[in-house]
Amino acid sequence: MTDGAELPAPAYPTLARSARTIDELDRLVVDCRACPRLVAWREHVAEVKRAAFRDETYWARPAPGFGDPHAGVLVVGLAPAAHGANRTGRMFTGDRSGDFLFAALHRTGFASQPTSVRAGDGMILTGLRLTAPVRCAPPENAPTPAERRTCGPWLGRELELVAPDVVVVLGGFGWRAMLVTLAEQGWHVPRPRPAFGHGTEVRLDGPDGRGLTLLGCFHVSPHNTFTGRLTEAMLDAVLDRARALAST
Ligand code: SF4
Repeated sequence: MTDGAELPAPAYPTLARSARTIDELDRLVVDCRACPRLVAWREHVAEVKRAAFRDETYWARPAPGFGDPHAGVLVVGLAPAAHGANRTGRMFTGDRSGDFLFAALHRTGFASQPTSVRAGDGMILTGLRLTAPVRCAPPENAPTPAERRTCGPWLGRELELVAPDVVVVLGGFGWRAMLVTLAEQGWHVPRPRPAFGHGTEVRLDGPDGRGLTLLGCFHVSPHNTFTGRLTEAMLDAVLDRARALAST
């Protein structure tokens, strides 16, 4: 494997292609510093902290994917939350979005526990893996298109290594990022690109003849869950549908 220390920071994500396993990919991504704005923000947040977490040491690095390395279902969000995964080091762990998501994953049989407060709590995901198109916490939860593109190789290689049957995409940003990544990998993505919607299903054919179903779901952010735009029943239905599609 290439020694990442030899690469200038902007080129570091190209290392993703050299990863032969998910473990290798996860080990590589945590050292990435390719996006100056996001590196500065993730480290600034870790210094300032939120009062409730002032005694904690923040992770302040890219968050690798979490869960089953050969999952039938890949769940793709947006990016780590500043005081969530950027603090705990684990996707969707330690914030309200994660509380809502992990409770649903437990109800639908994917997660061993209903709560996810910190890494190392014994949580096991079976048949499902969590990831994001951008691995570092962005200011205002808003990565730029350029940052999405820079981070793309990590998601692209993860998709190849996991080879899921179904990708559940939480929100429009992740949906568009996923379609770009799939098109870059030679998947047959229709033009115009399919629009995001809750419950939308799109069947895609891959370059190797393999198929994949994209399943849209409103993001599990408090903005959606506190207003009832996304209810527990709606999220459970999407996850049950993903399980059914993955097993056929
Ligand atoms: S967002 Fe992605 S490419 Fe940018 S620094 Fe973080 S891990 Fe690297």
